[in-house]
Amino acid sequence: MKNYNISIIKGDGIGPEIVDEAIKVLNSASKKCGFTLSYKEYLMGGIAIDTTGVPLPQETIDGVLASDACLFGAIGGEKWDTLPRELRPETGLLKFREEMGVYANLRPAIVYDELVNASTLKPEVIQGCDIMVVRELIGGIYFGKPRENDGFKAYNTMVYTKPEIERISKTAFELAMKRDKRVCSVDKANVLEVSQLWRDTVNEVAKNYPEVEVSHMYVDNAAMQLVRNPKQFDVIVTGNIFGDILSDTASMVVGSIGLLPSASTGDKTAIYEPIHGSAPDIAGLGIANPLATILSASMMLRYSLNEEKAANLIEDTIKIVLKDGYRTKDLASYDAKEVLNCSAMGDKIVEY
Ligand code: ATP
Ligand code: MG
Repeated sequence: MKNYNISIIKGDGIGPEIVDEAIKVLNSASKKCGFTLSYKEYLMGGIAIDTTGVPLPQETIDGVLASDACLFGAIGGEKWDTLPRELRPETGLLKFREEMGVYANLRPAIVYDELVNASTLKPEVIQGCDIMVVRELIGGIYFGKPRENDGFKAYNTMVYTKPEIERISKTAFELAMKRDKRVCSVDKANVLEVSQLWRDTVNEVAKNYPEVEVSHMYVDNAAMQLVRNPKQFDVIVTGNIFGDILSDTASMVVGSIGLLPSASTGDKTAIYEPIHGSAPDIAGLGIANPLATILSASMMLRYSLNEEKAANLIEDTIKIVLKDGYRTKDLASYDAKEVLNCSAMGDKIVEY
């Protein structure tokens, strides 16, 4: 029987709760589809700081590199916010993404028919919405140097090189070819030099994909358009910070931030994680929505392990569970039959 080695990073806050549910579902799906998964757990973030003194131990990097794929929860929390920048959980996460070379963060935002009433937007505005946000993940202002805060003056630098923009654009156009063949590139080219290079480079890459319709939008307008008429978008390609913000916006089109999965891919081991953070405000309460993490696990099956059947099984099962009216607290709209806690939602998917 085929076996895959999966590195697991649960992290902080709701991280352990949601990853446990994803593992539950993975075990059930793999059993049904005739393969096995071996897990090895590694530390990152606050828990790594408390245990080893650093947010990203070398053992974690080596372990993940040696695995077939990495399933990741979330990191960070108030407890570690006062540490110097280089020791913070978020610094560990950024370094981790850089070490793995995961430049392309794929963030699908799909409105399930079963959940059209869970969004704050009108059903007719969102029904059938299927967007893929392609966020550049290891460049831009989150990584740019110089960066400094001397107590009087503080600055960060938004840097992109042409090769960086070319490779993320190529990812977006390749994805578009398998979808609705439309790419909207989001930038702020009317104000930022880095965005001018971004726009010019996207247009150059676009020439290799004559079948794909290209458009450009300023990020402020894109935020507005996402809420006004999300169905106008197919693939959105954008830089690190704009992608961070726009995918949180897209989550409310879909219904909850607890629903959006992601795949971070590059040349080495891919990382699968929900788009949300460690949600310290609800950690330990058992009310976190595990679906974003479970859907990230199904992206892992599809993209890294080529286990398409198991991925479809998980996604189809989630739809049936939702159709039957089971919800977590963040999705509890008037048509919910029963509101389940985090672990009961995992159990329900396994049961179905
Ligand atoms: P990060 O910088 O790591 O992205 P963040 O500041 O954006 O973190 P999140 O941790 O994503 O914050 O949380 C934002 C809000 O969404 C919080 O109120 C949190 O409780 C809620 N939230 C996040 N994830 C979930 C989830 N899985 N289920 C329910 N609510 C969630
Ligand atoms: Mg966030």
